[in-house]
Amino acid sequence: MSDAVTVNGKIGKTILVMSGKGGVGKSTVAVNIAAALAHAGKKVGILDADIHGPSIPTMLGLEGAKTTGRDGMMHPIERNGIAVMSMGFFLDDLKDPVIWRGPMKMNVIKQFITEVAWGELDVLVVDLPPGTGDEPLSVCQLIGKVDGAVIVTTPQRVAAVDVMKSVSFCHELSVPVVGVVENMSGFVCPKCGETTDIFMTDGGRRLASEMRIPFLGAVPIDPLIVRSGDGGYPMTDIDQHNETHRRFADIVKGIEHFLTL
Ligand code: ADP
Repeated sequence: MSDAVTVNGKIGKTILVMSGKGGVGKSTVAVNIAAALAHAGKKVGILDADIHGPSIPTMLGLEGAKTTGRDGMMHPIERNGIAVMSMGFFLDDLKDPVIWRGPMKMNVIKQFITEVAWGELDVLVVDLPPGTGDEPLSVCQLIGKVDGAVIVTTPQRVAAVDVMKSVSFCHELSVPVVGVVENMSGFVCPKCGETTDIFMTDGGRRLASEMRIPFLGAVPIDPLIVRSGDGGYPMTDIDQHNETHRRFADIVKGIEHFLTL
């Protein structure tokens, strides 16, 4: 990857969280993976590379936060033991659209990699822009050394094509696939806690097996996830040992194992 730049900092492992399309819970999964790893004592950073839809600041309770510059470097904002950098820290209002062409967006991403004082991290989690087009491709090429990609999908059969595209994308760029997370898999009733399968479930597991890639786990549709995302705290930060919490813990175990963290 000839365009690669060097991350400013001492980064142990870099993982991408990607999805074939938007709205499947990519950022939710990225934030919860980062938070769970931080809980496990790892030094974690999260780079929100989604320039158009930076939702990480909201999900981590950092709406309105602004990054500071020192010694010619930008400094990530620390939250719950996670070093965070996002385009959201440069917008007056997160509702403002970013109307930029490709080169400008890539310049910002380049700066997020080379001009942010990331320090020493065990893991840098990169929340990629959705899809498998120009933007995620350019971000991957800039980052260069990537240790693995977590692919987030939903259970419906139509999502299978998106997973296949994401896997091909990784193969094309020689990025190892950590595995597939099937999000919105079944619904957890907030009253009785019972799980109901709304869409077909297990599509992700079957697909992963067909494509010979690991299946990391399934996360149900859980109102607590919406509440935590909107409320600015990761689900995995709540000491609440419900099913969703357990599912995330299993997914993170798989990632730790893959990365030998
Ligand atoms: P993406 O990054 O793929 O665009 P997000 O992570 O921003 O998707 O999630 C989109 C919306 O769906 C958010 O409001 C989030 O809280 C919600 N969401 C994601 N996963 C779940 C889930 N498992 N259960 C309930 N809501 C979810």
